[in-house]
Amino acid sequence: MCEARELYARAFILTMRIFISYFAHTDKAARGRHNKRIRMTETEVVKIAAVELIEIRLPLVHFFETSFGRTTERRMVLVRVMDSDGAQGWGECTAGEGPFYSEEWTETAWASLKTFLAPMVLGREVERAGEVFELMEHVRGHRMAKAALETACWDLEAKRAGIPLWRHLGGVQTEISCGVSIGIQESAEELFAQIEREVEAGYQRIKLKIKPGWDAQVLEKVRARFPNIRLMADANSAYSLADAALLRSLDEFDLMMIEQPLAHDDILDHALLQKQLRTPICLDESIRTPDDARHAIELKACGVINLKLGRVGGHAEAQRVERVCRESSVPVWCGGMLESGIGRAHNIALATLKGFTLPGDVSASSRYWSEDIIEPAVTVTPRGTIIAPDAPGIGFEVNRARIDAVTARQELLKAASV
Ligand SMILES: [Mg+2]
Repeated sequence: MCEARELYARAFILTMRIFISYFAHTDKAARGRHNKRIRMTETEVVKIAAVELIEIRLPLVHFFETSFGRTTERRMVLVRVMDSDGAQGWGECTAGEGPFYSEEWTETAWASLKTFLAPMVLGREVERAGEVFELMEHVRGHRMAKAALETACWDLEAKRAGIPLWRHLGGVQTEISCGVSIGIQESAEELFAQIEREVEAGYQRIKLKIKPGWDAQVLEKVRARFPNIRLMADANSAYSLADAALLRSLDEFDLMMIEQPLAHDDILDHALLQKQLRTPICLDESIRTPDDARHAIELKACGVINLKLGRVGGHAEAQRVERVCRESSVPVWCGGMLESGIGRAHNIALATLKGFTLPGDVSASSRYWSEDIIEPAVTVTPRGTIIAPDAPGIGFEVNRARIDAVTARQELLKAASV
């Protein structure tokens, strides 16, 4: 009797082992198939042969003012990566002209890329663009500089695979919803005129930059004049917890969200503030890593996250942040950094991911530039959307002649031996 029980037990364990081994194998095979879609095959391992850094200067058609200053001309670092087969990809650094939005700015981005980041990637065999961020992990911070190089590798990889970048990233939305960000104006009348223009153009939501002295009164006038538009405000860290009463008074304007009211590196005070507001807080500057997103969500510091490629360090990190948010049902939208067409094209690809459920700040090239550096320029449909492009990689042609015409400096860095 006892022997029979032992026999049954052994038979049961054996059956379970067979089951487990079968499912483990099936799972591995499925993962292999999944990886195949993202990963270049073994024979397609890419060696990064050269990295070209180009600084361009592009005057904005209209100045852009936030709580930390006014921008009239952008100084942008573009990155072109080339592999040993001659394929190339483009990225753009979103660092500003000064260390105001973040510590990074044009000069630090140039120096970091040239001295540290490009040498970490040059000559390396890269199996997947998704690994490039890890190649640069010994450099702390400098995420905008990293993103310029990393996103260029994604463009290269998608072009080699002959597919649009947005599909390569796992995007599911063929059309993305667009809003606009309107800077601080000289007068309320000028602001009204701009809002009217953007609403007529079809944009799905209006974001207003605010700062002390350009906040509650302005929002009140705007709401009275435009009672039905989807409206939000972005403070770029211009307030502190001591301003909680003023920020609470904004609840009555039915804002979709208020973006980054408190310190650029804070999460905890935002959680304390969120408890006092009906309006959801959206975090921008505070979210630099997937862990930041997790901490903010767990602390209930925000109801929404503005995801920016440069701020988080490129597509792989952006995908991880998007996943954290999606798994917690926190909506995400794609922020803008006054990008040229290259950065804009990368934003479009990013915003096709499933978690991007709110209109972002990705808008038409013509709002910023008299002539963009890509062809065709980014345009918005009358329903306020951008259609994800079909062409391989970022999906737009880079206009090298236009870039050359606005280049301030350029440097070609080559691998020691390829
Ligand atoms: Mg912002």
